[in-house]
Amino acid sequence: MTELRVLIDRDAIAKRVAEMAANITHDYAGQQVILVGVLKGSAIFLADLARQVKLDATFDFIGVSSYGNRPSPSQELKSGWDSTGEVKLTKDVDQSMKDKNVIVVEDILDTGLTLNYLLRVLRQRKPRTLRVAALLDKPSRRIKNVRTDYVGFHIPNEFVVGYGLDYAERYRNLKDVCILQLPPEST
Ligand code: 5GP
Repeated sequence: MTELRVLIDRDAIAKRVAEMAANITHDYAGQQVILVGVLKGSAIFLADLARQVKLDATFDFIGVSSYGNRPSPSQELKSGWDSTGEVKLTKDVDQSMKDKNVIVVEDILDTGLTLNYLLRVLRQRKPRTLRVAALLDKPSRRIKNVRTDYVGFHIPNEFVVGYGLDYAERYRNLKDVCILQLPPEST
């Protein structure tokens, strides 16, 4: 049977998200920010983070997908995927980023390919500042070095779901970040 094991519980997430929001509030004191959520995984993180950021803030969303089919989590952990780093935009932001303070809100940073692509796209829009807030970081799988300004938790090389993160669109509504363990026959 597929098993879920809690890696980061809801209280720890809430505490850390509040700290990240306090850091953002401090760094941008007196300024406006645009929080750009990366669909769909960052939706819950963005909702919680934004409500604790005490700034004049607006939201936007951007969507990306990687070429090729993503393998199962277990295969992915063994062999990785999309090493070509071909990412495409499926939804662009709705507002101008020019001369704005843009904070990209990402659920998880893994190989870094997605964020590397997104930052390149957004940099072309000439924002005043461009920073990244990522809830989770799996540094052991990094292919592209990307600078993150606000990171919630560094996690081991496990496939996680919950708090917005999915497996085949499921589990996004779990309150905790959980490790998804698949039965041996599906590996
Ligand atoms: P990267 O381009 O950094 O390899 O991957 C970032 C994207 O891969 C994330 O936005 C997320 O959609 C997906 N991803 C990477 N690791 C995980 C994971 O452990 N669980 C889930 N659900 N998605 C992941």
